[in-house]
Amino acid sequence: MLGSETNLEEINEIRRSVASLCGKFSPEYWRELDRERAYPTDFVDAMTKAGFLSVLIPEEYGGVGQGLTVAANILEEVHANGANAAALHAQMYTMGTLLRHGSQEQKDKWLPKIASGDLRLQAFGVTEPAAGTDTTSITTYARRDGDQYVINGQKVWTSRAEHSDLMILLARTQKKEETTRKSEGMSVFLIDMREAVGKGMTIKPIRTMLNHATTEVFFDNLAIPASALIGEEGKGFRYILDGMNAERILIAAECVGDAKWFTEKSTSYANERVVFGKPIGTNQGVQFPIARAFAEAQAARLMVYAAAAKFDAGEACGPEANMAKLLASEASWKAADTCLQTYGGFGFAEEYDVERKFRETRLYQVAPVSTNLILSYLGEHVLGMPRSY
Ligand SMILES: Cc1cc2nc3c(=O)[nH]c(=O)nc-3n(C[C@H](O)[C@H](O)[C@H](O)COP(=O)(O)OP(=O)(O)OC[C@H]3O[C@@H](n4cnc5c(N)ncnc54)[C@H](O)[C@@H]3O)c2cc1C
Repeated sequence: MLGSETNLEEINEIRRSVASLCGKFSPEYWRELDRERAYPTDFVDAMTKAGFLSVLIPEEYGGVGQGLTVAANILEEVHANGANAAALHAQMYTMGTLLRHGSQEQKDKWLPKIASGDLRLQAFGVTEPAAGTDTTSITTYARRDGDQYVINGQKVWTSRAEHSDLMILLARTQKKEETTRKSEGMSVFLIDMREAVGKGMTIKPIRTMLNHATTEVFFDNLAIPASALIGEEGKGFRYILDGMNAERILIAAECVGDAKWFTEKSTSYANERVVFGKPIGTNQGVQFPIARAFAEAQAARLMVYAAAAKFDAGEACGPEANMAKLLASEASWKAADTCLQTYGGFGFAEEYDVERKFRETRLYQVAPVSTNLILSYLGEHVLGMPRSY
């Protein structure tokens, strides 16, 4: 599934390195951050220094030059080890927009610094409060003014914005009502946030039920150089869509890693917790849900790596990427719910980490795309039924 035998050995080696790095960050490290809603700077730095975040950047720009299969293995392993990649995963897939659609000059300027970790490309500004899932209804507007664009509007759920130097931003350069097709008239910009914050860009954190550094970002006459435009003006929606399959596959790999973590926790607790004179795992009512969650995660994993293999082969992989995300996010949630039930009351105690991971893994049925929208995609584009919206 993962390629030739040599590839498999290489991948196993990478996974061992990831596991060893994650082992340096104890459960207490994650617990403390969770309590404080603090960003895992040390963990992100370690992952960056080890080269894991630049795995998809071609070697000519200083990256590792590997494909999505390797990236998915890295993120799966992070989550299987009880860590969380949400603080860093965007650097992997948002970079693809710049790589695929940026000019040679932009790639030469930014990619080596992103690969070395000198610059962090972690912020991805697409979602807006009023538009929600209906991305073509965004209203943040970039007006061309000589050799600049002036941006006004607001984004929401822009994760990692306080911990990023660069932002990939989707904004309208033509109002929706002025376009012939609603998917036109949007453009992608690479914003140097070091220049923007306090000069028209304001970031406000949102506190959530999990430790995820997410924010609202306000644009008030933010002037950026015209050279920040990626690709052609008006074609930005297509560029963003191009990157979404990669994002879905990588997030699905994280879910598979979560499911593995939960199932290992469930199994060991079921074996060791004695009630009524025997391990609770002796009871089929406890054992079977764990076995079922395991089977579902294994099936989802096959879809994740089938999607990644197609992506790496340059083949269209929309159905597989979406199904991977759907199945893996449901499998991780099933494994999480089963784990909480297996732990009984202790599942709610912070010290076992189950309640934290439970909160964390729930996100993936909503972001980066919610389950209903995947089902709509499959219903319409794969199965040929009428569009529901
Ligand atoms: C912690 C977190 C981090 C995030 N990080 C980022 C980020 O970094 N960058 C970014 O741009 N965005 C980010 N997002 C936004 C995320 O992608 C959206 O929340 C998600 O796509 C859902 O959009 P929405 O919240 O606007 O829901 P809405 O669009 O308001 O939808 C609400 C509910 O209605 C359902 N629904 C809507 N329309 C239909 C329909 N036609 N048929 C059936 N059901 C429908 C949805 O499935 C959903 O369940 C993040 C979100 C969260 C919570």
